[in-house]
Amino acid sequence: MINFDVFGPEKIIEVYDPKTKMHGFLVIDNTILGPGKGGIRMTPSVTAQEVADLARAMTYKCALADLPFGGAKSGIVGDSRSLTAQQKKDIIVAFAKSIKNLVPDLYIAGPDIATTQEEMRLFAQTIGDNKACTGKPIDMGGIPHELGSTGYGVFLATKQACEFLGIDIKNAKIAIEGYGNVGSFAGKFLTEIGAKITHVSDRDGLTHNSNGLSHELLIESIEMYGSVIKHPNSLVFHNDTILEADVDILITAAIPDRVRLNDVDKIKAKLIVEGSNIPASIEVEKALHAKGIWVVPDIVCNTGGVISSYTEHINGTPEDMFKRIENTIPKNTKLILEESKAMGKIPREVALEIAKERILKS
Ligand code: NAD
Repeated sequence: MINFDVFGPEKIIEVYDPKTKMHGFLVIDNTILGPGKGGIRMTPSVTAQEVADLARAMTYKCALADLPFGGAKSGIVGDSRSLTAQQKKDIIVAFAKSIKNLVPDLYIAGPDIATTQEEMRLFAQTIGDNKACTGKPIDMGGIPHELGSTGYGVFLATKQACEFLGIDIKNAKIAIEGYGNVGSFAGKFLTEIGAKITHVSDRDGLTHNSNGLSHELLIESIEMYGSVIKHPNSLVFHNDTILEADVDILITAAIPDRVRLNDVDKIKAKLIVEGSNIPASIEVEKALHAKGIWVVPDIVCNTGGVISSYTEHINGTPEDMFKRIENTIPKNTKLILEESKAMGKIPREVALEIAKERILKS
């Protein structure tokens, strides 16, 4: 059952189109700071509850990132792989038509699982307003995902957290869980400042070299074999072993619930940066904190994507986007870690308090 509280959700909309069999949900969680921002995912199992949880996460993320956006999310029930291109288009058009009266004043869409810039093109065209969504193709003023906005923010948060903890980032050993959009860009920017990445995992395994892995060779391995595990001169292990890696810093950039309670004692890293969404529950984060492991929460460090969305929304350039990330994520990381230390609370609790205060004060 969806819970209501002081923030929302303000609207829970379930739509169905008998002609295309489009069945979707839109949850607009909170619009105090601005129109609800959140992507459209298409999965066979999506539910109103899942969409509501994701919409709430967007409310907090946008508040923390100092954006004039609220939180929202959409979900369309369907397996995009079993649909023809035309069926998928018809479903997106039907969904856009069914929520048209709310867009973009109360809801601004974006891509998420199984929706890309082409679906965003169609969505904006159906609504008849370029402001209907972000993540559009370049010819419609979109800022491409391939610039690595989220990975850049994760990199900056890592650097800032290292300063706070007195870790010399250039001499630290770093593990990255997942080397897709988020992980590979975090890896690229870390490599550029001379940091040493010793462990990288993906769907197929974990590759390790204690002298450091090469970002270029990791990308080459992905391009040629679809995985990082063919990086030359490295040892290959099961991807689960990333948590036991003998490193100073662990960056998560793959799956939710990666770190469970029974993993806490295995972890050697002193710092975990949550590039992925919800890699650990609050209980796990409390256990990590009790063990002296600092966590930079997802809602603080992986907001580069939504900052990029906002920049696109106001017709900004990629340069504006990078600047805005530089002005937001390190500042928030520092604030949350310092307050956490001063108040004896875990960083997520502090981050949530700050986000809630920013919303309720305005
Ligand atoms: P992606 O699909 O580009 O990459 C995912 C990576 O995770 C791939 O390297 C894949 O092989 C790997 N992976 C899958 N299962 C794994 C496993 N069991 N162990 C290790 N690696 C595994 O996805 P992405 O866009 O990089 O997103 C990664 C995470 O970050 C997700 O949780 C996503 O929700 C979150 N996130 C992404 C963005 C963004 O802008 N892309 C923004 C905020 C949060």
